[in-house]
Amino acid sequence: MNETLPAAAARTPIVEFRNVSKTFNPGTTREFTAITDVSFRIDDTPGRGEFIAIIGPSGCGKSTILNLIQGFSDVAPATTGEVLVRGVPVAGPGRDRGMIFQRYSSFPNRTVLGNVTFGLELNRSQLGLDRSAMDDLAMTWIRQVGLAGHEHKYPHQLSGGQQQRVAIARSLVLKPQILLMDEPFSALDEPTRHDMQRLVTELWHDVEATVFLVTHSIAEAVYLGDRVWVMTRAPGRIAVTFDDIIPPTRDSDPLEVQESPSFKTAVAEVGAAFARIDRGAEPDGRA
Ligand code: ADP
Repeated sequence: MNETLPAAAARTPIVEFRNVSKTFNPGTTREFTAITDVSFRIDDTPGRGEFIAIIGPSGCGKSTILNLIQGFSDVAPATTGEVLVRGVPVAGPGRDRGMIFQRYSSFPNRTVLGNVTFGLELNRSQLGLDRSAMDDLAMTWIRQVGLAGHEHKYPHQLSGGQQQRVAIARSLVLKPQILLMDEPFSALDEPTRHDMQRLVTELWHDVEATVFLVTHSIAEAVYLGDRVWVMTRAPGRIAVTFDDIIPPTRDSDPLEVQESPSFKTAVAEVGAAFARIDRGAEPDGRA
């Protein structure tokens, strides 16, 4: 903790949910409440964003939480409650929030470089960058994600892991303060998935964003998260928060961490909570 920072309580949270619920198709036969009474606040820790990993049964509203933060119009606004980013109600997507999906979301008709400069081009006037500055910045991120030499290729010429690297570079080039990752590595094979997890921890030094990661993998949640939320079945609530038992992974060798007893204990504990909640049992009071 940096002691020169003001007390956390004095800062506006970077993301805050106040008793948020979301009911889709209200008043119709398809009415469905995805989340109910979700409240949390994530403090803004400059220079070191927090990494929140969200797990829970399928359909419990994990993506709905991400979409509400993003302000994605298919989902936002919340039915009740407030969704605030830096103290301001979310009114729509913004450059301060980046999203990375499971499915490769690159533009097929643009090269890697063209994909990474896309967001810069959209925000050209605000960013004040000319063509060569945009290309330089994009190339910095293309190198960071390990794609140097591939910048003139099109997405179909890349592997799944490489395509997700493009998606990561596309988001990070805009320096978002909040990064929303919706099962970003689920479609990848195991070794590629580990490479991507390693890449994410390595990039963290430069990113400094607050991250919300939705994942099906308990090990991934414990590995990448500073804090892990386990949600109930729909209508989803945050049933349990784990933070004290999550071993620190930044600046540590990923293989060493994942072999450590503290990591294995954390995975077992989070897994047990997940199984209890998935069976519909009450959480164990750890909230
Ligand atoms: P999870 O990410 O936990 O699997 P989601 O947040 O994607 O769950 O979805 C929760 C529930 O809300 C699901 O039943 C889903 O079908 C429904 N849902 C999500 N988005 C929409 C939408 N735009 N319109 C209607 N229903 C939706």
